[in-house]
Amino acid sequence: MGRRLGQHFLTDRQALRHILDAVAPSRDDCLLEIGPGRGALTTHLLGHVARLDAVELDQALARTLQERFGSRLCCHNTDCLTFDYVALSRAYGRPLRIVGNLPYYLSSPLLFRLYGQIDHIEDIHVMLQRDFAERLAAQPGSRQYGRLSVMSAPCVQAHILFHVPPRSFAPPPKVASSFVRLIPLRCPPFPMDDPQRYAAVVARAFQQRRKTMRHTFKAFVDVDQLRACGIEPTQRPEELPPEAFARLANVADPL
Ligand code: SAM
Repeated sequence: MGRRLGQHFLTDRQALRHILDAVAPSRDDCLLEIGPGRGALTTHLLGHVARLDAVELDQALARTLQERFGSRLCCHNTDCLTFDYVALSRAYGRPLRIVGNLPYYLSSPLLFRLYGQIDHIEDIHVMLQRDFAERLAAQPGSRQYGRLSVMSAPCVQAHILFHVPPRSFAPPPKVASSFVRLIPLRCPPFPMDDPQRYAAVVARAFQQRRKTMRHTFKAFVDVDQLRACGIEPTQRPEELPPEAFARLANVADPL
């Protein structure tokens, strides 16, 4: 078994209890576990809900889980990066509650995929590499604030609930972990004309994190336009709140 598919299994009972308390599943929730592995969390979740869906890429693990838990579990043996979350939510007629302890190399692609289907999601509880979690929840001006924080801001509110040390997993990962709650934002927290332009502006700004905004965007806007967006020309991207990038994306088009 081991590290194939990022398989670090949770073995710490206290961490499992904390996760369960944080998720607080209720009987009629449409709960979806991503990467259930050997079922450490699955067992506990099934103690609370009438039925559980899971997405597990490893065929042998998926089969074992299905045999172990029978019809109360619907284990989809597929890739969580291509899984159709919208279809599952529509089948239930309700938004999904997503829970997962995933391989950390999937964190970014998975979250961005979920952001694209966020209207069909009630909440997300995930184990993440601690450094990634801190970048996700970071506020402007902090060392960790960057592209991930700004791209997440229009979609979710991120809360780091607790940290989990490597010894809680078998085999232990090389990095510390954090358990995070993401609450989808139903109304955009600030006006944004075009999400693709927002993404392009944010990517460009943070490619040159140490450069001033005037320098990075000189081909697209002049100093007066920057100021009209509430951005001082000498400011660096790490100092600006997400809404400043949204205002800039409404006038600058780096696509
Ligand atoms: N949740 C279990 C636990 O806490 O013990 C297992 C966690 S392990 C870090 C990650 C799990 O995700 C493994 O079971 C692995 O097979 C599965 N996995 C890896 N890549 C996946 C993917 N692309 N889609 C779905 N599951 C995946």
